[in-house]
Amino acid sequence: MTTPRKPAVAMKPADWKKNLPRPAWKNLERISAEDSWFCVYELGHRTYAIYEDGQYEESISYLLLGEDRAILVDTGNGIANLRAQCRELTSLPILLVNTHSHIDHVGSNYMFDEIAAFDDPMGLARRTAALGYHHEKARTYIEGSAVWKPFPKEFDPSVFCIPPYRVTRWLQDGDLLDLGGRQVEVLYTPGHSPDSICLLDRGARMLWVGDLFYTGSIYTWLAGGDIDLLVGSFERLIDLFPHYDLLMPSHNEAAIEKEILLEALKGARQVRDRTGDYLLLEGGRRKYQFDRFAFVTGPDGR
Ligand SMILES: [Zn+2]
Ligand SMILES: [Zn+2]
Repeated sequence: MTTPRKPAVAMKPADWKKNLPRPAWKNLERISAEDSWFCVYELGHRTYAIYEDGQYEESISYLLLGEDRAILVDTGNGIANLRAQCRELTSLPILLVNTHSHIDHVGSNYMFDEIAAFDDPMGLARRTAALGYHHEKARTYIEGSAVWKPFPKEFDPSVFCIPPYRVTRWLQDGDLLDLGGRQVEVLYTPGHSPDSICLLDRGARMLWVGDLFYTGSIYTWLAGGDIDLLVGSFERLIDLFPHYDLLMPSHNEAAIEKEILLEALKGARQVRDRTGDYLLLEGGRRKYQFDRFAFVTGPDGR
């Protein structure tokens, strides 16, 4: 049964900060960071989480160090100087890899010379690299209750936009990225966006999942999102359980136990099969709430 139970509510509640600090971070080792915009955590296996808790997306970028080079996973909202933050942590050459091209993942892309992204069939990654995101869109991410921390000194909100950037390596499913003594595998996992990838490090037993899963509202309603594809991607990630223990999402909390994907798959199947209750959001979107996460679909339930 699918029953709309409530009138429309805002997509982003103004009181989002009440979730902070999120409990999962308490178990991780925080290290000092020059720029107080970022909270930096050491996760073991020469891996760092760089968390933006001051803005409602609560974006997380990750820095993975090998012997010869480093991979940076996503660049968040583009408010503070992420390149300088990475340089505090390593002097290795950095390959930036985007889990997908949404605005809250490519904010500081323009600061990096080597960028890898998945060449998706809808051309989202190519279009985003060519155009960036203009001020009229970008400013909605920093207005009103979206930000609670003071902006960094060099940041000018009146001209804030996401500049275009140059992708230097187009990725395909199964590609191996070699950092020297450490390899990361590219998995094409659509469902949230047409260009969504996961990154698997079998040595560190970590899986970067982008926006495919996090402890929050997971969207399938944006262009190119699809609940059927999301179910298929969850199934693929669960088949790979023998090779990793922890999920590294791009929002809210890092180092989540992989077993939560079993609940996510069960929930996503209910959404797909139209058997769950939902709240009606603005624009007719549907929110299916589960214990530690939710799915938000379009008005058509996909
Ligand atoms: Zn996204
Ligand atoms: Zn995101």
